[in-house]
Amino acid sequence: MLLVVRRPESLRVAEAFLKTDMGVGCALLERADLLHRFLQARATDAIGALWSPHEVRVESRDAIPRLTRWLHERWGVEFLFNTTTLDVDPPSIRTSIGRISAAAAIVCPGDDFVSLFADRIASRQLTKCRLSMLRLATPGYRLPSALMSDLGLVRYLGYAALPEAVVLRERLDREQSAQLQHGIHLIVVQSTDGSLVVGDSHHYDDTPLPYASAETERLILDELRAATAIDSPVIERWTGVYASATDRPMVVDTPMPSVRTVIITSGTGASTAFAIAEEVVGDLYDQTFEDLK
Ligand SMILES: Cc1cc2nc3c(=O)[nH]c(=O)nc-3n(C[C@H](O)[C@H](O)[C@H](O)COP(=O)(O)OP(=O)(O)OC[C@H]3O[C@@H](n4cnc5c(N)ncnc54)[C@H](O)[C@@H]3O)c2cc1C
Repeated sequence: MLLVVRRPESLRVAEAFLKTDMGVGCALLERADLLHRFLQARATDAIGALWSPHEVRVESRDAIPRLTRWLHERWGVEFLFNTTTLDVDPPSIRTSIGRISAAAAIVCPGDDFVSLFADRIASRQLTKCRLSMLRLATPGYRLPSALMSDLGLVRYLGYAALPEAVVLRERLDREQSAQLQHGIHLIVVQSTDGSLVVGDSHHYDDTPLPYASAETERLILDELRAATAIDSPVIERWTGVYASATDRPMVVDTPMPSVRTVIITSGTGASTAFAIAEEVVGDLYDQTFEDLK
């Protein structure tokens, strides 16, 4: 990942990040080094970049169907599509197509706070976050990696929680208050066909509306042009919604000894799901099948 830095205040945050455990393996690039990796940035006022070799990108649109197929073919997992779960009370699970018998259950309702264990979820005071996303036509060359910009340094806690981020935040408040108001920060990744997935904005509401404003899109594209000089046309737009909380990255609840409810409340479930699943399944298995050990 290349985080293109356009302000000295951002450089200070990047330098501080490198001294943390999370900065291991990352490096600060001067402008010349940035241009060596990403020549197109010559048309921007970038003064350098934070380089990280750690990120791996997965195209959810392809990966999720392939994962589903593999789980079914390799492990015999049965998926019940177009089915609503109405009640979870092991060994009985009542669904819209009948009862299922199960010793234990993990409920992952995403942003559906009202269908299962609604009273317990309500006590966690969660809300929802709506994001605007774009796909742009290929710029005609391969990006060196995922790209980000200064705005990411005041959004992601690994950077934003550093003391050095306070001064950057003050400057961005003055210069890019519209972007901050719409929760905009920049991530650009390239698909195999060359097109770019560009995000995103963050609007919080208990009942998010589906409308994505043209102004939000303009602000995302302004940041894209400023940080990367990419100016390709938009070919696709979509919004997504995820569960959100101000005070915790996820909720793991135990409504019954043989049931867990898991809700990721930080928009990071695609990256963290496997690790969380390992912990939750391990714990549930230990507790539920204690007698069998
Ligand atoms: C636009 C966007 C971009 C994102 N980008 C990233 C990213 O770059 N990196 C990252 O790590 N994360 C990202 N996320 C967050 C990530 O997608 C979520 O954290 C993750 O999908 C949560 O997974 P989940 O399975 O818990 O919930 P979900 O993916 O929300 O799935 C829950 C499913 O359960 C179904 N359901 C709910 N109740 C019932 C019921 N009673 N019966 C039957 N089905 C039910 C829902 O319909 C839904 O299909 C992004 C999210 C969005 C919206």
